[in-house]
Formats: sequence, structure tokens, C-alpha cells
Amino acid sequence: MANLGAGFTAVLDRLIPYFFILRRFFNQKGVIRLKQGDALIVVDVQKDFLPDGALAVAGGDKIIQVVNAYIERFMSSHLPIFATRDWHPRQHRSFAAQGGPWPVHCVADSKGAEFASGLLLPDTVIVVSKGDTAEAEGYSAFENPKLKRRLDNASIQRLFVCGIATDYCVLQTVQDALKLDYRVFLLQDALAAANVHPQDGVEAERLMADGGARLLTLDELA
Ligand SMILES: [Zn+2]
Repeated sequence: MANLGAGFTAVLDRLIPYFFILRRFFNQKGVIRLKQGDALIVVDVQKDFLPDGALAVAGGDKIIQVVNAYIERFMSSHLPIFATRDWHPRQHRSFAAQGGPWPVHCVADSKGAEFASGLLLPDTVIVVSKGDTAEAEGYSAFENPKLKRRLDNASIQRLFVCGIATDYCVLQTVQDALKLDYRVFLLQDALAAANVHPQDGVEAERLMADGGARLLTLDELA
């Protein structure tokens, strides 16, 4: 027994360095490798949400370059890219004339509803419109059943989400994704918040993180 114990200890002694190497490997801060089952969701990067738009979001234009960098990564990994858009009728419930909180924005087929000119979406992009009837709220992209259907068809498990606005459409899309048990990565360097109240964006990021979303920046993507 003593010999067996000693032998076991000797084996453990030999394994310990490997244990530390493995642990270091798994703890490597934030390195995420894209793989099959991943998808990028670009939320509402539309002209009306840029600084000159009808519902301007400060910094909306500043994220386009990094959103493009994410698009590039997903394209080179042959992974699907979704782009959501507000696509409202003229009498949409969210407009002030109907008692809603917002000015008229992203009316279907209008200039303002177009994707930002600098946004480099591939031909293969899957466009998901939302808020396209007077009553459909249109904050969460999951309101359009097309999104879930296409994610299911492609066996997607992990969603990488960026876009505008952190505190509305990004927040509600991410919260629905978490409810549906997707693993969600929030692309923190490619978000712009409406900040109707100054801390709304920060608070929304906290809510998403508390709900299980992992915050990620481009440099953490392997
Ligand atoms: Zn809207």
C-alpha cells in the first residue's frame, strides 16, 4: 500500500506542471475562437440612428469601423451575419404623434431606414426587419420569427451582438436571446447608447452581463 501511495504521489508530482499549463490555457483572458454555430447580429446600424439622423444616437457613426471589423471576421470564418433594422409604418406606435416616446424614424423604404453607408454588409447578410406594423413594438429582433427560424436552420448556439442602441434594441434582443438559452457575447466596443438618461447605456450593459451575456472586445477575438 505504501508503495502504491508513493507511486500515486510520484505520478501526481509529474502531472502538476501540466495542470498549471492547462489552467493557464483555459484562463487566458478573453480569447474566444469563432467556430461553427456562431453568428453575428448587427442591430439597427441605420442612417436615422447616426448623428445626422431623425433619432440621432451619439457615437452611432463611431462604431461602424469596428462593426465592419467584426463582419470581416465572421465572413472569413464563413459564419452567418444578421443585420436587424427598424422598418416602421408612418403611424408606428413608437412615434410621438401616436403617443410614443420617439420622433418619426426608420420609416420603411425611406432614406433614414437604410443601413449606414459605411457599413460593409456582405451579399449573404440576412436582414431582419422589426416594428413593421403599427402595433409591433420592434425593440427586440426576436419579435420577427424569421430570426429564430434562421438561427435554428443554421444550428446557431452562440450570438455575438453589436449595434444601436445599447439601451433599447440591443438590450431587448440580448435579453430575449438569453431567455432562449443562447450563449451571448456583447461586443462592447461596437455599441452606441441612446442615453436618454446619462447612465442608461452603462446600466443596460450591466443588465445584460448580469443576465449571462459576456462582454467582449475585438482584441479578445482570436
Ligand atoms: Zn424604432
